[in-house]
Amino acid sequence: MEKVDILIIGGGIVGLAVARTLSEDYEDVVLVEKEETFGRHASSRNSEVLHSGIYYPQNSKKAKLCVNGLEMIYDYAQLKKIPYFKCGKLVVATSEAEIPALLKLKENGEKNSVVGLEIYDQLKCRELEPQIKAVKALFVPSTGIIDTHTLMEKMESDAEKNGAFIVYDMEVISVDSLIDGYIINFANGEVFEANRIINCAGLHSDEIANMVGINVKREKLLLHWCKGEYYKSNQIKNINHLIYPLPDPKGIFLGIHLTINLRGEVRFGPNAYYVDELNYNMDDSYKNDFLKAINKYIEVEEEALHLDDCGIRSKLQPEGGDFRDFYIEEESEKGFPNFINCIGIESPGITASMAIAEEVKKLL
Ligand SMILES: Cc1cc2nc3c(=O)[nH]c(=O)nc-3n(C[C@H](O)[C@H](O)[C@H](O)COP(=O)(O)OP(=O)(O)OC[C@H]3O[C@@H](n4cnc5c(N)ncnc54)[C@H](O)[C@@H]3O)c2cc1C
Repeated sequence: MEKVDILIIGGGIVGLAVARTLSEDYEDVVLVEKEETFGRHASSRNSEVLHSGIYYPQNSKKAKLCVNGLEMIYDYAQLKKIPYFKCGKLVVATSEAEIPALLKLKENGEKNSVVGLEIYDQLKCRELEPQIKAVKALFVPSTGIIDTHTLMEKMESDAEKNGAFIVYDMEVISVDSLIDGYIINFANGEVFEANRIINCAGLHSDEIANMVGINVKREKLLLHWCKGEYYKSNQIKNINHLIYPLPDPKGIFLGIHLTINLRGEVRFGPNAYYVDELNYNMDDSYKNDFLKAINKYIEVEEEALHLDDCGIRSKLQPEGGDFRDFYIEEESEKGFPNFINCIGIESPGITASMAIAEEVKKLL
């Protein structure tokens, strides 16, 4: 049986960021991932946007970790030469009726200490983005895009240089608590004993918590999967900012937005609908919804939209439910000391990843 001090479950961006940070201070850190490499799920199936923190309730973990994490990621990207572009974004009001919500969003962003927010009038919007239809827009200068694959690669490499072990094809199938540690069984027959566990298993983080004996239903830690699809378009060119509509009033998602990648190519999405199975297949069932949403702020023809990719969010917020924050807790109170859960790490999880790792370090 392998004995380890700290076992991190999950090699998405959160697990990698945690491995990198903890391996700076601790000697015996092992990360296990069930796939053959890192970031095969949400961490490589997202908008690759570095968020500013304007959307989330004041003092929520999402707000604080997003604002702090953004700064940390920009510094890290610069240090490690990770491709990124601080392009800024425009949240557009497409009718007079939407202006109060836009102003409220600015106010919320300011409460969360997001700096540089400005309201632009129609003329200024046209000057910046001639193809975009907007009566007013909220300009968010700190938003950017990043090459998330290279970001994860650098985190993995830093963790390994610090002495951490990252092991792939290792699916955790059970976790049992001992008096002073945990026994972990893997699908390939291996067995580990760990002093402490950090659960960063994304879409399956509630299952891992359940395995150790936490009643996730009673504790309201059951995850709800919410799919988001993207369309790409090569018809639209010369866009310089990310373009967002006003967010969904129920807080389920940010609205079907326009992003550019580091090559300037345009993508639309994601939409949001709850699903029961982990299935990344796509078809055109939602194309009309996309066309309707996109054409509010930019003209695009049906033939110019092509299915691209999709991802699945791990949400604590059930369909029709209220806002839920990231859950990042050490579980002594539930009877599981030295077991840290990271559950419900949906957007802005990429942006917040390095700040989440610092939070986990504090909990240890
Ligand atoms: C459509 C979409 C768009 C998004 N857009 C953005 C954005 O623009 N900006 C932003 O900041 N955030 C965005 N997010 C959120 C962001 O992608 C996630 O918050 C982040 O990737 C979560 O990382 P993670 O490491 O927690 O999860 P994951 O990346 O899902 O990693 C979890 C890992 O755990 C592994 N695992 C699971 N079970 C086991 C097991 N039993 N044993 C071993 N390993 C296991 C999985 O294989 C997986 O690799 C978006 C998410 C989605 C879905």
